Amino acid sequence: MNSVAERFMRYAVVSTASDPDSSTSPSSSRQFDLLKGLEKELIELGLEDVFLSRTGVLYATVPGGISGDVIGLIAHVDTSPESPGEGVAPQLHRNWDGLPILLNKEVLIDPAECADMLRYKGGTVITSDGSTLLGADDKAGVAIIMETCKWLIENPAIRRPKVVIAFTPDEEVGRGVENFDVDRFGADFAYTVDGGEVTEVSSETFNAWSADWSITGREVHPGSAAGSMINAVRIAGELISLMRSEEMPENSSGRDGYDYPLFVKGTTGSAEVKIILRDFTTEGMMKRRRRMEAIRDCLASLFPGSQIELILKEQYSNPGEILKKDRRLVDYALEGMKRSGIEVREGSIRGGTDGSRLSFMGVPTANLPTGGELFHSRREWVAEEGLSIALDGLKNTLIIWGEKL
Ligand SMILES: [Zn+2]
Repeated sequence: MNSVAERFMRYAVVSTASDPDSSTSPSSSRQFDLLKGLEKELIELGLEDVFLSRTGVLYATVPGGISGDVIGLIAHVDTSPESPGEGVAPQLHRNWDGLPILLNKEVLIDPAECADMLRYKGGTVITSDGSTLLGADDKAGVAIIMETCKWLIENPAIRRPKVVIAFTPDEEVGRGVENFDVDRFGADFAYTVDGGEVTEVSSETFNAWSADWSITGREVHPGSAAGSMINAVRIAGELISLMRSEEMPENSSGRDGYDYPLFVKGTTGSAEVKIILRDFTTEGMMKRRRRMEAIRDCLASLFPGSQIELILKEQYSNPGEILKKDRRLVDYALEGMKRSGIEVREGSIRGGTDGSRLSFMGVPTANLPTGGELFHSRREWVAEEGLSIALDGLKNTLIIWGEKL
């Protein structure tokens, strides 16, 4: 195993799932198990100003570097609560033959549904045992940043910018930079290392809003309900049928946005529906929000006497416009990945990262690949060789910053 893969596997076995129902920071105390281990490793490696906040953000500075723009590197320690994350047991598929990998009766990793898997034919693919996710999202990013720190410290002669790092908790529950101290971090620009296939550097994320509905009906015994029952279950059903199926995630790809009804619960008396809206453009997002409001008005007139409340809330925004103002961040990363022998393109994440919010907090942040794919599922995988390409890409990116400063 190369050292970045070994390091990744060491982090992958520590359970760090975040908890969407918790209001504490971090949302689960198990995230400290990894954060404290990383804190110790950073001190041992010789980083400066190592600081683990009470809310679970770990900051550090790599000594050295030339003056000028300070570059930050960020990864998140939590794993997605959408898939089991307790007891991860990484499996190595050495000399992989390019055929589907069967982890157990239910879990099959099919290269046909992965953008970039066949690149690693003959290499070593790392998966879980099929009972949990793997956690390459984002422990692959954590391992890549730790290896980068080690390399920077062992090679003080390399001309490169000042580098600071941060590991965040709770990215997967949308709270990764909730308690992030931009001043303590001290970066002018940053990269999250939280992407997928090595061929993509991302300079855009979705704009994201949530649309939470609460519907109040009127309960009456069904035998005597004529003319008086107002059934919240029916209103919830009508709400979803008024949405456009062609705008839903299963029918959207590329630069399309979507409207995604992801939760319904209800009785005659009351119902709750949760919808999320995603769009790359501001105008597109405005349309989606207006559509929700139009549906609310329509339901109110279809079901007089009901109470229909719609709460629209912004979750994060697309930093694309901010990143366009100074192209260095993205261009150097594209060049850096290219120097590690990869045909790379600039892409848009169909989701969000800590970087979407960080960009709006004054630190323009683009996203670099980790090499992993099929995140948030038991089929998640990363190849040893992918980790090492992603690591080289990041090292080269810092070297390019050093050449240009
Ligand atoms: Zn992630």
